Amino acid sequence: MDLRAHRVEALVLRAIAYGDADAVVHLLTRRRGRISAFVRGAKTSRKRFGGALEPFQRIEALLSEREGQELWALREARVIDGHAPLRDDLHRIAHAGYASELVHDLTRAGEPADGLFTLLDEFLTRLGSGRATSARLRALELLALEAAGLAPELSVCARCGAEVAPGKASFDPDAGGLICTNCTKLTHGLVLTHAARAAIWQLRWGGLKAADDPLSADGSGRPADARAFEDAAAQAGRPLALFLQHHLGHKLRSSDFLEQVGAAQ
Ligand SMILES: [Zn+2]
Repeated sequence: MDLRAHRVEALVLRAIAYGDADAVVHLLTRRRGRISAFVRGAKTSRKRFGGALEPFQRIEALLSEREGQELWALREARVIDGHAPLRDDLHRIAHAGYASELVHDLTRAGEPADGLFTLLDEFLTRLGSGRATSARLRALELLALEAAGLAPELSVCARCGAEVAPGKASFDPDAGGLICTNCTKLTHGLVLTHAARAAIWQLRWGGLKAADDPLSADGSGRPADARAFEDAAAQAGRPLALFLQHHLGHKLRSSDFLEQVGAAQ
């Protein structure tokens, strides 16, 4: 039996066919967080769903709770923003899939996650123009971790709290961030070059805008060399991937797809 129905704005994270006609969709909704819903007639009813169940779209959804059921029921959906430009390019699609999986795995069902909703929507919008870059992926990861209350420690040593000398440093995914020279002797951190450290610091505070328009690390306020910044962001990929893996307990499946299609990581 259907209980109350709710009309909500949602991002489609994933849609899985169920039998010949139906589907299960994973949605990130405003105010209600992540919801999984059963869609009866997903493939057969264009009137009720009309192409709105493709991943990465922002939709308006009419959802009902189902008594005693974990899955909601999706009754109707219409597209608000299809994020169509990102579908023109395999690298962009790979990045969109990575972003959706990241946000899915950092949220708990039914817990409001409006910060992540706004972040993912902005990421998908920006992905529609220009290259799919490592810089945007790093900004996304850092902001998503922050929104989930899991931000890495980038200011002081994550093991002992001491100051971390400027320049090249070690990053210990299990300790939770940068570590100082003394702690580096006791454990094996991953090297973050000076440029990579500066890039993640800028992306942590400047977000997706900084990923698209980075500033030089010399403090002059001039634009950064775009290629050097992208290289630095790519170098920070592995330390952050291992940090994510530490918190999630697994590797993101879509990161393999990034590698397969040769997309920036
Ligand atoms: Zn330390």
